[in-house]
Amino acid sequence: PYQGMSKDRLLDIRKNNCNPMTMKVTYYKKPVFINQGYMQWLWDVDGRRYLDLFAGVATVSVGHCNPRVTETAEKQLRRLWHTTAIYVYPQMQEYAEKLACLLPDPLKVVYFTNSGSEANDLAVLMARLYTGNFDVITLRGSYHGGSPQATGLTSNADYKYPIPSSMGCHNTMCPDVFRGLWGGSHCRDSPVQTIRECSCSPGHCQANDMYIRELKEMFATTVPNRIAAFFAEPIQGVGGAVQFPKNYLKDTYQLVREKGGICIADEVQTGFGRTGSHFWGFQGHNVLPDMVTMAKGIANGFPMGAVVTTAEIARSFGKGVHFNTFGGNPLACAVASSVLDVKDKMQENSTEVGTYMMTELAKLRDKYEIIGDVRGKGLQIGVEMVKDKTFRIKPPMCITKDDADFFLAVFTQAVQNYMERR
Ligand code: PMP
Repeated sequence: PYQGMSKDRLLDIRKNNCNPMTMKVTYYKKPVFINQGYMQWLWDVDGRRYLDLFAGVATVSVGHCNPRVTETAEKQLRRLWHTTAIYVYPQMQEYAEKLACLLPDPLKVVYFTNSGSEANDLAVLMARLYTGNFDVITLRGSYHGGSPQATGLTSNADYKYPIPSSMGCHNTMCPDVFRGLWGGSHCRDSPVQTIRECSCSPGHCQANDMYIRELKEMFATTVPNRIAAFFAEPIQGVGGAVQFPKNYLKDTYQLVREKGGICIADEVQTGFGRTGSHFWGFQGHNVLPDMVTMAKGIANGFPMGAVVTTAEIARSFGKGVHFNTFGGNPLACAVASSVLDVKDKMQENSTEVGTYMMTELAKLRDKYEIIGDVRGKGLQIGVEMVKDKTFRIKPPMCITKDDADFFLAVFTQAVQNYMERR
């Protein structure tokens, strides 16, 4: 049992000595005080158990305190935590090779960082050095990090400040077929796809045409003739599990490459099997990025991030030295490596439980008018509450069908209560 400070005292410290912003975004009138975790479960300081459907924003990929990952971490803690990355220690090389094997050719060179923001910062730097161009394009609604550089990539007002954020970043319209300007409701028949298959005419999506036209307009007016990169999440995470119409990324990648830019997939949330049928979200779009950035689920919550790119782009660092004190440390690499060892079954589980959940949620969408849309892939799910915001579901990938049933029962009850109170 928990024997630490009282809840009042903890709240007091949180208000006075921690980032005050976190009080604003706890989403709860009464915050939850978490004391312990095991797989898909969390316990609060009073011993009350919770089913975790958020996993620290898709971060705890293979379960809280996953026993195999914890055992690996414990062993590595006793052997070696840290040394300079200029030495060769087996954990980094072993993990880099293991990770590179999971990406298609020619994505084979791995750079380690400590977070997603750092990975995206590095990706921008490399894209600029490689292409010799400066301008970077991202989608509105995206979240790519909170560093000064990544804040420019991010296009979500909650995370913007009234100071100049990094120069050369431009945000184009997000091809959102639910909220977007050009609709595309005909493109959202099935709730369980990475991309939204379109039935408006065979192989052709009219909403997609409009979003591509908008991008071309941006090329004609807002950015120079040559650009450095285009960044996108395969399914927008913080933006609300937003899926793009079929061919959007494919068409965009082609246009960006014609402008001399490289294409970067931010897999911080969608990577590592979360979308179920594919290990990487970009694979669901049938595209091959020039660079992939990752973090969160990579090490089940242990701070780590990475950029994986081609040998040719990696050479762009030229004579400069890129160094990161903690990036790729032996402990993080050992943890990340054991995450991959336990991951396989989790990916299948993402498909199975995720598809089941979305199919059941789609039934609620048809029954209750406040649920406007159900979308996602695997265990990256969005339920659009029409009167309010998006309900995001991204649990540890070890949740079971019974857990899904428990969630569906609680969620249905909550929606029913809301409808009755109106
Ligand atoms: N990219 C995406 C898609 C993210 O969701 C996040 C974090 N929410 C980041 C980048 C930034 O990662 P970090 O918080 O580790 O810097």
